[in-house]
Amino acid sequence: MAELNPGPITTNNHGIPAGSDNQSLTQGPQGPVLLHDHYLIEKLAQFNRERVPERVVHAKGSGAFGVLEITEDISRYTHAEFLQKGKKTEVLARFSTVAGEQGSPDTWRDPRGFALKFYTEDGNYDLVGNNTPVFFIQDPIKFPDFIRSQKRLPDSGLRDHNMQWDFWTLRPETAHQVTWLMGDRGIPKSFRHMDGFGSHTYLWVNAEGERFWVKYHFKTNQGIEFLTQAEADELAGSAPDHHRQDLFGAIANGDFPSWSLEVQIMPYADAENYRFNPFDLTKVWSQKDYPRIKVGTMTLNRNPRNFHSEIELAAFAPSNLVPGIEASPDKMLLGRVFSYADAHRYRIGTNYAELPVNAPKSQLSSYSKEGAMRHHYNSPDTPVYAPNSFGGPHADEERYGNPAGWDTSGDQIRSAYVKHAEDGDFVQAGILYREVMTEDAKERLAANIIGHVSNGVVEPVRSRVFDYWTNVDAELGKKVREGVLANLAETEPAAGPSPVAPGSEAAKI
Ligand code: NDP
Repeated sequence: MAELNPGPITTNNHGIPAGSDNQSLTQGPQGPVLLHDHYLIEKLAQFNRERVPERVVHAKGSGAFGVLEITEDISRYTHAEFLQKGKKTEVLARFSTVAGEQGSPDTWRDPRGFALKFYTEDGNYDLVGNNTPVFFIQDPIKFPDFIRSQKRLPDSGLRDHNMQWDFWTLRPETAHQVTWLMGDRGIPKSFRHMDGFGSHTYLWVNAEGERFWVKYHFKTNQGIEFLTQAEADELAGSAPDHHRQDLFGAIANGDFPSWSLEVQIMPYADAENYRFNPFDLTKVWSQKDYPRIKVGTMTLNRNPRNFHSEIELAAFAPSNLVPGIEASPDKMLLGRVFSYADAHRYRIGTNYAELPVNAPKSQLSSYSKEGAMRHHYNSPDTPVYAPNSFGGPHADEERYGNPAGWDTSGDQIRSAYVKHAEDGDFVQAGILYREVMTEDAKERLAANIIGHVSNGVVEPVRSRVFDYWTNVDAELGKKVREGVLANLAETEPAAGPSPVAPGSEAAKI
């Protein structure tokens, strides 16, 4: 029967008309399927290769395109072209959970990635942040350990609270981020209802070469809203793609989400004696010391037309810094400057930057050539080496050769951050709890911790959890201890063997 409204004739990947959309080629109606049905073979082979490896972290994400408009004059702080007043720059945003896999529920308690790619006239600038201003750890050498502790056990493949709390309590610099995570902002109502942060400290340089330290804040214009643990648990079952649906639906309906871009600026010389080490990613700069300054507005107004090509294959990297913006001594940032681009070379392929979503919209005159799936090439009269006498690209060393950088000296050592006057692992977590959270928010924080710890955390980790929260705040520590012990008294037999850590040798017997 003729199909209604037929489209064009089906072809294979090489433009050759396909024999059928429905039947494989066989030797007689009952005969074997023939190997030279090249269309069938291509179709099955292509299907087998439809996936690229998911990201090790931030695997489940959603994204959209939009525009960043600069409304204020900040030229005294940076000469970055796209940050000058009046500029409008196309942007791609990708929001994600961290620990969950591709199919995991959007509403699991987790930080949310807030990755941005600005297609500037000086090349692509990526700001790969989170919805929190801080992070769990201070040194990139701990990153694989940290992530493994939040993922799955080797034998059962299950996630495991005991492993999470074991790591967190052994590395107390996690306390600030964990307080945030266990609080209301640990489960945003939607991607639209959360702030974004560059999190790291960056260096801005103005046209005179003056240097400033900067922290980025993207304040949601939709208002901060969160889900309670019970609401999130319900949605994890009934609508696991809730946040993806919300973002796509809002933009499809013309309800474009926007964020106010604001920055904290620290004069270069202040860093040495600021009361907190300003490069430590587990600390914020108090907004009382360095108030936020408005820069512009980011609006998301266009959904992807193809999720795989435009969101899954989007590759963000903190190494993509444009003139006027540089890295800082934040060790986590310096580690990420290597690891993100490296992850994309593995995950997508060495020429990932050629894909339309990753390619710059500015002039490209690179000497890169060849490799798997390469399709861009320079004109045949462009030399393949530099320097050359035949008009090939040449680096402008005078303008771009020497970064403004920062002053440093000393021997090669492995060292923790230098502690400043008010630094301490639990200090800012305590401030967040005592000075920022409302009484209701404190109650929910304690309840969330108690629920989490009561589910599978065993000795000796459990006792360390009580100490950890007592160090954040004595009252909170007491609540956590009493709440967890009360839950355990209800569920554990009065006498009997002590609990065994899941995944431990004893548990396998
Ligand atoms: P401020 O009083 O100037 O700022 C408090 C900040 O806390 C605001 O940005 C506010 O965001 C945010 N906040 C409010 N409720 C919560 C919550 N339940 N969970 C997490 N954050 C919340 O104080 P300081 O700048 O001196 O910082 C004090 C503490 O506030 C810090 O130790 C840190 O934990 C937290 N904080 C600090 C930020 C910073 O960059 N300085 C940024 C965010 C949090 P909003 O305006 O959206 O309500």
